[in-house]
Amino acid sequence: MTELKQSLIRRIEATGPITLAEFMAECLMHPQHGYYQKERVFGKDGDFITAPEVSQMFGEIIGLYMADRWYKMGKPQSFHLIEFGPGRGTLMADILRATAPVEGFVDAAEVHFIETSLQLRELQKKKVPHGNWHDTLNTVPEGPSLIIGNEFFDALPIHQYERQNGEWLERRVHAEDGVFQLVVTKPTAHVALIPEHMKDGPDGSIAEICPSALSIMGDIALRLNTHGGSALFLDYGYRISSFGDTFQALKNHEYVDPFAEPGAADLTAHVAFDQLHRAATEAHSKAYGSTPQGMFLMALGIGSRAQALASGTDAAKQEKILSELKRLTAPDEMGTLFKVLAVQNHELPPPPGF
Ligand code: SAH
Repeated sequence: MTELKQSLIRRIEATGPITLAEFMAECLMHPQHGYYQKERVFGKDGDFITAPEVSQMFGEIIGLYMADRWYKMGKPQSFHLIEFGPGRGTLMADILRATAPVEGFVDAAEVHFIETSLQLRELQKKKVPHGNWHDTLNTVPEGPSLIIGNEFFDALPIHQYERQNGEWLERRVHAEDGVFQLVVTKPTAHVALIPEHMKDGPDGSIAEICPSALSIMGDIALRLNTHGGSALFLDYGYRISSFGDTFQALKNHEYVDPFAEPGAADLTAHVAFDQLHRAATEAHSKAYGSTPQGMFLMALGIGSRAQALASGTDAAKQEKILSELKRLTAPDEMGTLFKVLAVQNHELPPPPGF
């Protein structure tokens, strides 16, 4: 039994069943045994692969998107380039490389990473030594900002509610004889966040709510509204929230039981883009999307970028670039399930790709 499992069981024995959000937060973020303290998380030899690890083209296209937004902001001589949940730091390194030829951009950018895992901070430092690290957005100094996050929101803890006899009940994690099981109990106050179109779901429905995602989005929107700038988030999930249990665990590129080995597998849930859109709008910023990742990247010219990279290379290399392009954009790969949401200050012209 893992140490984290023992400590979770002791906690449940002492306090009673814990919410799924508490369980997820412990499994991912526990300072010693949490999943994100592991070194080999992403990439081909990790548990799952993310878009920046699939191909450099992803970060390059996002870099050009950021440069465009910087121009539209009037090329501020100093701004904060902020990334949420940077993983191995690959995306930021690619953004900085792709924007190096854009006169003034890299010099004006002060890089900030929002990252809770100390282990991952070390990896990020290797790729972007001049970054500044924060636990939350609150400690990033005020000022105009360009913000990016890839697969950040899907790692935030969710609450699950189950409809029984016309009422929403909270799904909690209980432990019996060393085995975790789900039980339903009185709901926490976050139940009020279930969107209007889902409130009257039929018995047996499951609704998921991610309060920390909504509050982080509120903070981002407030910052952009006050100090100017633009944010872009890519993740997998719903364009419009709907019922269902999307809590899942990945280990060695395979789906596993999320309750089997706490801390050993990555835990995620679908991101509800309509709820993030609403949170941004309520905090007085303007939101665009979500739009499918494939359409977004194609509209921004990832096809031509792939051609440029492939030209003059051998057949094997060309095939590799083509398959990476397909992985990022094809509807049956990451093109449709993954979506993009932009949030920005009202005064900025609309972003490209939406
Ligand atoms: N963006 C990267 C990694 C995605 S995994 C990529 O695309 O490859 C999720 C990342 O978010 C990890 O770096 C994890 O440590 C970080 N993370 C998760 N929850 C966080 C939180 N509450 N605050 C800050 N970072 C968090």
